[in-house]
Amino acid sequence: MKENILELIKKQKLEEDCVILAHHYQIPEIKQVADYIGDSYYLSALVSKLKTPKIYFCGVRFMAETAKILSPDKTVILANPDAGCPMADMVSLDDLIEFKENNPNHLIVSYVNTSADIKAQSDICVTSSVALNIMNTVKDKEILFLPDRNLGRYIKEKTKNENITLWEGFCPIHERAELEDMNALKSKQPDAVVLIHPECKWELVEQADFVGSTTEIMDFVSKSDKSKFIIGTELGVLESLQKQHPEKEFFLLYDEFVCKNMKKTTAQDLLNAMQGKGGEVIKLDEDVMVKASKSLYEMIKRSSK
Ligand code: SF4
Repeated sequence: MKENILELIKKQKLEEDCVILAHHYQIPEIKQVADYIGDSYYLSALVSKLKTPKIYFCGVRFMAETAKILSPDKTVILANPDAGCPMADMVSLDDLIEFKENNPNHLIVSYVNTSADIKAQSDICVTSSVALNIMNTVKDKEILFLPDRNLGRYIKEKTKNENITLWEGFCPIHERAELEDMNALKSKQPDAVVLIHPECKWELVEQADFVGSTTEIMDFVSKSDKSKFIIGTELGVLESLQKQHPEKEFFLLYDEFVCKNMKKTTAQDLLNAMQGKGGEVIKLDEDVMVKASKSLYEMIKRSSK
C-alpha cells in the first residue's frame, strides 16, 4: 500500500512543475520521494535558487514560512499543516515587543526556529550552522538571543560574550537528554565519537567530541576515519547517516530523541497535498514578509562573508 502511495507521489510529481523538500528529521518514506533533503540552513538557502514555481514542504511550519519569505513569488505548501515546532511557540509576539520597548538598544537575534512574526521583529536570523560565525560579527552589541537558551548558552560560551541575554525557550526533544544518558552510552561504547547538536543542554555539549548542526554532524562522519558514533540529535539524522554509511555504526544518545512534529507528515499527507485534498498553502502578511526577509537576508549576507 505504502509502495503504491510513493509511486503515486512520483507520478504526480511528473505532472506538475514542483519540488519536494524534506528536513533530515522526516520519516524515511518522505525522504525516499524528496528531491532535496537538508537542514534548516541548506533548505532556506536552496529555496531562492530553485526555478520551480511550487514547493511541497515536508518539515514544520516555520520552515515552510521561511521558504515563502525567501521566495514570495512561489507557492509553498506545508504537507501537514499540524506540524509545528514547540520551541518556536515559546516566544510570543507581545512578549518580544515588550522586551524591545524596555530594551531599545538590544540587537534582536532570532534562531530560524521562530514564526514569521518573530523574524519580522528581529534584526538578524541565524541557524545552528552559521550562528557562531554571525555572533562573532556583533560582539560589541547588547544582544537578545531567542528562543533557544541551549544554543544561546553554547554561543555565549564559545564567543566569550557576556552581553547576550537568553530567552528561556528550548527544544523539548533535545532538552530531554541528561549527562547520565550520555555517560551510560559512552561506557557501553567507549570507542564511539560523541557528536552533539547545540540544542542539547550545555552539560552534554561541553563533554562532546564534536558540536555542530545537522549538516556539520553529517560532514564530520563523512570525513572521519572512525567507525562508531554516538549521535546527539534527532533520530532522522541517525537514519540518514546509516543509509549513507552502512559500514559505520551509529548509536542514538537518547532513546526518545524523536520529534513527533517532524514525524507527523506521512506519504499520504504529501499525496493529499499534491492532489489538492490537503496541505496548506502558506500565506503571510506582506508587511511581515518584507520585514522578516530582512533578518533572513542579513543571515545570508553575514554567513557568506
Ligand atoms: S526537534 Fe525540536 S526544534 Fe526541531 S522541530 Fe522538533 S521541537 Fe522544534
